[in-house]
Amino acid sequence: MALSEFELIRRFFDRPQAATGRDDVVLGIGDDAAVVTVPEDCDLVLCMDTLVAGVHFPEATSPEAIGHKALAVNLSDLAAMGAEPAWFTLSVTLPAADADWLAAFARGMFRLADHYRVQLIGGDVTRGPLSVTVQAHGLVPRGEALRRAGAAAGDRIYVTGTLGDAGMALRQGVQAAPALRQRLDFPSPRVEAGLALRGLASAVIDISDGLLADLGHLLEAGDPGAELQVDALPASAGFAAAAATNGAENVHYDIALTAGDDYELCFTVPPDRCAEAESRLAGLPGGCTVVGVIEAHPGIRCRRRDGSSWVPTGAGYQHFRNGNG
Ligand code: ADP
Ligand code: MG
Repeated sequence: MALSEFELIRRFFDRPQAATGRDDVVLGIGDDAAVVTVPEDCDLVLCMDTLVAGVHFPEATSPEAIGHKALAVNLSDLAAMGAEPAWFTLSVTLPAADADWLAAFARGMFRLADHYRVQLIGGDVTRGPLSVTVQAHGLVPRGEALRRAGAAAGDRIYVTGTLGDAGMALRQGVQAAPALRQRLDFPSPRVEAGLALRGLASAVIDISDGLLADLGHLLEAGDPGAELQVDALPASAGFAAAAATNGAENVHYDIALTAGDDYELCFTVPPDRCAEAESRLAGLPGGCTVVGVIEAHPGIRCRRRDGSSWVPTGAGYQHFRNGNG
């Protein structure tokens, strides 16, 4: 590498503590390990996600988007736990120490980090094919972390934001509208929604592999069935426009249900708490939309508003039982 490992860390990753204004970092970057203070009445929530070039993002993705996304996907996992992001560590494997690339990567990452006051406290740098791993650390009041387990028959199923934008952008490639491309490259982790759902949602998961697959995980951990209303799936204006010019409705339902990379939250709420959940989320980024209901009968059944059933054709669906009812 043209830059030494230490120069690289100092120049691009070691920023004054003031950048996030946190007073709970005892030791950040520069020692053998970081030291942070965990409040006594909180649980520490940890998650880690790796992005590999060509697997988790197209090779041509801008370094700014890679920096943003590597942190965003982790903040999305913290959001699904109802945790408030606090700190993160970063391991980057780079083919070369390209200063322009690193500056753009750091810009994308720190813009999001500063927005949520989450501080980079350490990491590692190695040489090899491009890959980025972030471990994020969040805090929740003791015992209050949200989980995948807990959905019960009768609970309503909600999603935040809109579905299928990233999937549509991937499918359309260079022809995708900028707004769709933005949702693929710069996903918005629903941190505020996750915090608002503490003590309210019966189960939460973030949608990274598509609603059908991720709702499937909720059903493995709670009551095992669900009915989804496909024409209630929230679509952005950009998605609706692309779907309209792109042909059959089953194609766009399939993208919304199975394409993934949404980084929205899917959550369930008992009927008597739905009004409260809806009013809490109404003013937050993304808002929320009810898309179905949990049922005791195993499997996911997709229906249109007129009651007719709709069978997804996307590959993602093949793992799922179709309760043809
Ligand atoms: P060691 O040899 O003890 O593992 P390193 O030389 O790898 O230490 O790292 C020196 C310091 O720089 C450590 O505090 C480490 O956490 C930090 N660091 C290394 N890589 C990164 C990175 N990509 N982002 C943030 N901090 C980093
Ligand atoms: Mg090291």
